[in-house]
Amino acid sequence: MDKPGTVADRLGDKPADGKLRIVHAFMNTRNGDGREDLPNPDALRDWLARHELISARARLNNADLEQARSVRDALVRLSAARQSGRQDIDAIETLNRAARRAQMAVTFDADGRGQVRPLAPASDGALGSIIAIVFEAMNDGTWDRLKICRDASCAFAFYDRSKNHSGTWCDIAVCGNVAKARSFRARHAKHG
Ligand SMILES: [Zn+2]
Repeated sequence: MDKPGTVADRLGDKPADGKLRIVHAFMNTRNGDGREDLPNPDALRDWLARHELISARARLNNADLEQARSVRDALVRLSAARQSGRQDIDAIETLNRAARRAQMAVTFDADGRGQVRPLAPASDGALGSIIAIVFEAMNDGTWDRLKICRDASCAFAFYDRSKNHSGTWCDIAVCGNVAKARSFRARHAKHG
């Protein structure tokens, strides 16, 4: 059995591409049923180090853990809110606070391309790197395809490759069918 902190990335069978895959995996370190892959600061450090966002020797504390979880949960809520056409001001404020702590700055690389990068070190900077990926994905349109499964007990993030962005289940054969069976039972209860 895996030790805490060595859990493989949970991407399902609809993974995002490129760097967005890190955000995808980060969002899936929890689920709708209360599973938590980041139970303590060491597990968070190991997760961030495995994705080359922090040194493997970094020492994180409970405040770092709380901050990381709040950013993760804000990303999940932001995605779910977008899908249902709502705003989530709380989630936005959490991300704005995290971006300020990470000291996000525009920097230019050797090719003259501008990028948004965190200046802060340690955990704040690692979360800033995740925010930077989200920011870029928002600009290139891929963020809109990162969705949360409509089954609330699942709430698994998946990358929707359907042509018209119409996917609502992480796995139509599992969560889609569970929902179908539920509405079938509800209809029958009404008529029975
Ligand atoms: Zn699902």
